[in-house]
Amino acid sequence: MDCPFCQSHETKVTDSRFVPETNQIRRRRECNVCQERFTTYEIVELDLPWVIKREGSRESFDQNKLKAGLLRAVQKRPVSMEQVDVAISHILKQIRNLGEKEIESQKIGEFVMRELRELDDVAYVRFASVYHRFQDVDAFVHEVQGLLSTKRQPEVKKKSA
Ligand SMILES: [Zn+2]
Repeated sequence: MDCPFCQSHETKVTDSRFVPETNQIRRRRECNVCQERFTTYEIVELDLPWVIKREGSRESFDQNKLKAGLLRAVQKRPVSMEQVDVAISHILKQIRNLGEKEIESQKIGEFVMRELRELDDVAYVRFASVYHRFQDVDAFVHEVQGLLSTKRQPEVKKKSA
């Protein structure tokens, strides 16, 4: 790594740290010639599986698409960008842990729903309604009731009593 101040080739790394939230390696460097200090970031590109779509076609994993889907679901909801980024890193970690070369888009959707369910009920239902393409109203109501019974039980009981 050349020094950005004096272009010397003689620089050294004084500290190196992996930032899991963003999959980056942060390196503190110092120039041996002019003694200036600077920081570099390296993005760790970990292999992600191919995505098999519903109709059977295959495409490369698109992290931006994943993020766009999540952002659409949490729109105008009290969910921060940081929470979205953490959710994405959870999802990516789970996908990598599968260790498969291919993953069905359906499976990714399930991982996303699991994260959204923890973050925000409305975002979860929004995503689930698009993702499941609910055949009928009953299927949708069933999904929402499932959500209510696991997360809001005391509140529901109070209302119905
Ligand atoms: Zn220098």
